[in-house]
Amino acid sequence: MFWNKTAEEKQNTKSRCKMVFQSPPRAPFRLRTGVQIFSIGTILLIGWQFITWVHGLENGITTGTRPPGVEGFLPISALMSLRHWYESGEFSMIHPAGLVILCLILLTGLLLKKAFCSWLCPVGAFAEFLARLSHRLFRRRLKLPVWLDYSLMSLKYLLLLFFGYAIFVTMTKLEISEFLVTPYNKVADIKMLYFFTDLSTTSIWVLSILTILSFVLPYFWCRYLCPYGALIGLVSLFSITRVKRHEADCTNCGKCAAVCPSFLAVDLKTAVNSVECTGCLECVANCPEDEALQVRGPRFFQNRVKPVVFAVLVLGLFYGGIQIARISGYWRSNVSQAELVDRIEKGLEGPEYDHVGRPPSDK
Ligand code: SF4
Ligand code: SF4
Repeated sequence: MFWNKTAEEKQNTKSRCKMVFQSPPRAPFRLRTGVQIFSIGTILLIGWQFITWVHGLENGITTGTRPPGVEGFLPISALMSLRHWYESGEFSMIHPAGLVILCLILLTGLLLKKAFCSWLCPVGAFAEFLARLSHRLFRRRLKLPVWLDYSLMSLKYLLLLFFGYAIFVTMTKLEISEFLVTPYNKVADIKMLYFFTDLSTTSIWVLSILTILSFVLPYFWCRYLCPYGALIGLVSLFSITRVKRHEADCTNCGKCAAVCPSFLAVDLKTAVNSVECTGCLECVANCPEDEALQVRGPRFFQNRVKPVVFAVLVLGLFYGGIQIARISGYWRSNVSQAELVDRIEKGLEGPEYDHVGRPPSDK
């Protein structure tokens, strides 16, 4: 039976065309877990502030402030703002934090692979939690046959293509700038909250199925469906850091490949260039040889990037970038509290709030 073999035997088994159960992850990389907990705590705090603020507005209380970080959950609006910024030179102040977060995520991809996915993203953390829970119960990691795995992976690129085509090809420059000031976009974060607090039966089914699938197949959403992850993955091809294996120090034990959540054959590569590498450093943390597996920067930078330095860079880049945006005035939206109260009082159900791209009826 495949699952009675040692990790090395499993790694060497020519089973890439079958559905296989790989050996379990070993010691989790606690430094990253700590960063994930910090990140989730921050997002929960933002969520709580946002819910409290919207609830206050519904009751005419305007003393609270809207947490700009919530705009990180508006990636489509952020992509449109990015195009608008590129074409007009104007940094849209409707959801500036969303654009700042998008830029920081792309910058992270350029410098530190898909570290956003494995260190900071709440969905990635939830997917990892489900994967670990699944492993605790079944002591196995299910991997699909290569043909099915690759076919499913193409879905996230198709979704990215769909959104990219809609935003960068079908919409004109004028339509983009008009969309950004629509009532729909101004209250997109509040509409998103209402979507989650008033889930339709279909949405509940979809979320439940995705959760179950992520439990059975580790990282189902991230690996197969997340267009954001697909975008960061493509950007990460140009990342200046990557995991490198020094063959002279490697004993070919296969532990790095066995713990890789992206099923990458780290033990067979000299450098991990894959778009699926999330920079989680589980391989580095679990390698028993000190020098065999390291994060390396550009050629002129001789030293290895130690995991703790990598963690500081991830946090510093993301939260430091946010602080710079905050200080320089590119963080808080210029949509006034009074305008939002007025819109909420009149209700967000009109035609101007239900269709992306509809010409603005008022500004
Ligand atoms: S890089 Fe490390 S974990 Fe991977 S095969 Fe070599 S010695 Fe083992
Ligand atoms: S290769 Fe290493 S850093 Fe990349 S996803 Fe796999 S375990 Fe994480």
